[in-house]
Amino acid sequence: MGLFNAVMSLSGTADTDVIENERLARHTSYRIGGKAALFVVCHSYHALRRAVDVLQKEQVPWVIVGKGSNLLVADEGYDGAVISLGREFSRTVVAEDGCTITAGAGVILARLVNETFTRSLTGLEFAVGIPGTVGGAVSMNAGTRDAWIGSLVSDVVTFKEGQGIKHYAHGDIDWEYRHCSLPRDEIVLEATLKLEPGNKAEIRAKMEQLLSRRRRTQPIGCATCGSVFKNPPGNSVGKMIEDCGLKGFSVGGAEVSPVHGNFIVNTGTATAADVVAVIKHVHEKIREVYGVELQPEVKFLGF
Ligand SMILES: Cc1cc2nc3c(=O)[nH]c(=O)nc-3n(C[C@H](O)[C@H](O)[C@H](O)COP(=O)(O)OP(=O)(O)OC[C@H]3O[C@@H](n4cnc5c(N)ncnc54)[C@H](O)[C@@H]3O)c2cc1C
Repeated sequence: MGLFNAVMSLSGTADTDVIENERLARHTSYRIGGKAALFVVCHSYHALRRAVDVLQKEQVPWVIVGKGSNLLVADEGYDGAVISLGREFSRTVVAEDGCTITAGAGVILARLVNETFTRSLTGLEFAVGIPGTVGGAVSMNAGTRDAWIGSLVSDVVTFKEGQGIKHYAHGDIDWEYRHCSLPRDEIVLEATLKLEPGNKAEIRAKMEQLLSRRRRTQPIGCATCGSVFKNPPGNSVGKMIEDCGLKGFSVGGAEVSPVHGNFIVNTGTATAADVVAVIKHVHEKIREVYGVELQPEVKFLGF
């Protein structure tokens, strides 16, 4: 592959930062992961378009990431380019109706939650405490058991290599629990969310309640990727794991959190191989005890 040519073409290009051999542990909430051959931050649409064109032409595989809060990266790293969205994708625009917000895919979800609170808009309270970007949240259909971001999204704009910009209305996309049907080879550029005018005190109370629940039930402050597995229909995977006596189970530096069974924590020295070993053990045990094939929620890169 033309990695060298890709670096030569992209280095010094406007609105593009290119780093070779970047440690991905620096870009994941797990603080785990080997090096990416290239780490490319695109600060504008044109920079993104050019970067993807160059990578495609030079046959360098690429992947888009947000804040890496749902990613497990292999210890061997990723022999391709990791693309991240910069400045131009970090803006929010509020429409004249005061309730419709268009957010760039690089906007930090917490910032958007904060902005809706400041404007007394209701609907996005469930997202309080969910790390990551708007692009990652749309791609994952992030949310809780009761609510997810897709139900608020009225439009999504994506970029597809060779085709350019594509527009999707809410109904063009299937939104399911931790899944949206947008093609995996498209990069979310921005999403428009429809919110409702609300009562600020009520919005605050709801957010505080959700945050204190998180503090009570999740290993806040630890290096994790959030929930590792999706909940099977009608069941709580955290409870299933707990009932199997797996809380505290560990391999190397990776441990099933004693606080929440569906969180695997990097206690400080975990490798990706340690996390995978814990995932496999939990998966096998749940299959053995319940006959259920757990599906991972975490995304894997470089395996
Ligand atoms: C402590 C903690 C708590 C969490 N709690 C929750 C929770 O309550 N609910 C929940 O749903 N999740 C939760 N998560 C998981 C995670 O925060 C979400 O999945 C989040 O939406 C991921 O966003 P990101 O920007 O970090 O995406 P990344 O982890 O970087 O990427 C995730 C996936 O999205 C894709 N992606 C990212 N950006 C784009 C883009 N612009 N276009 C197309 N695809 C893209 C990536 O390719 C990858 O497949 C939690 C994680 C942590 C660490």
